[in-house]
Amino acid sequence: MKKSNSDYFAEASQAIVGGVNSPVRAWKSVGGNPVFVRRAKGSKIYDVSGKEYIDYVLSWGPMILGHAHSKVTTAVCNKAKEGASFGAPTHAETQMAKLISEAIPSMELLRMTSSGTEATMTAIRLARGFTGRDMIAKFDGCYHGHADSLLIKAGSGVVTLGIPGSPGIPAELARLTLSLPYNDIDALQKATDRYGSRLAAIIVEPVAGNMGVVPPQKGFLEKLRELTAKNGIVLIFDEVITGFRFTFGGYQNLIGIKPDLTCLGKIIGGGMPVGAVGGKREIMEKLAPTGDVYQAGTLSGNPLAMCAGLATLNIIKTKINSFSALDDKTNRLCTEIKGLFSTKGIAVCINCVHSMFTMFFQQGPVYDLNTARKSDTVMFARFFHGMLKNGIWLAPSQFEAGFLSFAHTKKDIDKTIDACSKTLKNL
Ligand SMILES: *Cc1c(COP(=O)(O)O)cnc(C)c1O
Repeated sequence: MKKSNSDYFAEASQAIVGGVNSPVRAWKSVGGNPVFVRRAKGSKIYDVSGKEYIDYVLSWGPMILGHAHSKVTTAVCNKAKEGASFGAPTHAETQMAKLISEAIPSMELLRMTSSGTEATMTAIRLARGFTGRDMIAKFDGCYHGHADSLLIKAGSGVVTLGIPGSPGIPAELARLTLSLPYNDIDALQKATDRYGSRLAAIIVEPVAGNMGVVPPQKGFLEKLRELTAKNGIVLIFDEVITGFRFTFGGYQNLIGIKPDLTCLGKIIGGGMPVGAVGGKREIMEKLAPTGDVYQAGTLSGNPLAMCAGLATLNIIKTKINSFSALDDKTNRLCTEIKGLFSTKGIAVCINCVHSMFTMFFQQGPVYDLNTARKSDTVMFARFFHGMLKNGIWLAPSQFEAGFLSFAHTKKDIDKTIDACSKTLKNL
């Protein structure tokens, strides 16, 4: 007998905690069982029954070229035949570091990791080692991976599941992390007035994507740069989502602000597990083996990950002029959807930044975690299931970003608008 989706999930749940290897893949907040995927190509993803969906999750951001891009796939397949990992340096790592430095000049020296979590964890340790200070600050609703110091009032699955902090993180450690409201310049000023000389680092998503999409308000990041510089605090831009999503480079390229350290992940791995931390030479040189701040990784700079990443970044480099078309597509999608909601008389606030978007089920505006939380998550859940039925793959949470890829066509957008119209009829 052919296995159904619920058979797959039941079997997974016997062997894997909650049936998933990352909690955001569970459907806790929308109800039902996660759909198991068989394969994906371009803008489409296919479940185990063969049903096709237009994918706006894109593996939570990485697949900006669309799934299984032929050049990336061919490069990885060929590379695999030469061996998967050596635990010794390869030239591809140098090529990767040079390409990233070229795209993001503030990243003068780099270290590759196998995940975004390792990159941010390393950035924090490095900032502490460099400054000799212990405290750090972050912003409510920003997610920087699941390292202990950063999992305080975090976004992503933590907001979705309504977990305030996490058991297992010692209170002594949590006390060293200050979490401030996003976009609140006054709170930032007060925090640096009070703790400026004790803060090793302030880490921020320059465009927040893990409480749903929340753009930085005018002056917020500028003030952050000014206050961190003034107080000798290491400014860390977590560009794990935004790196190479808006241009060949980071969001920092677009706004002309240079952080001291930058974290990357997602897109730079082309779908393979990857992360990178880089920044000012004098800070980066504190890392072992040049310095005494320890960090390591058996699979860091893995040949297959470098290969997928290099292929992806080299293609993006040729597409610098295509980003505006990608933005336009996203804009049109959001504008038309907003129109449909307003015709139907359902409140929606759509935050759209280049090729990232979130439809918040509320009037808005949404500019921080508290305002994001005002959304009608029950209504969102119904919308999510309606869209899914109509062939649209959205993140199973109100508090996540949607993404477009270069592979999304005008026809995909038309189909999505049509699916939205059908979904709203029955909402
Ligand atoms: C996904 C993400 C991370 C963590 O990356 P992983 O590869 O999942 O460990 C860190 N920061 C931001 C902004 C992210 O979106």
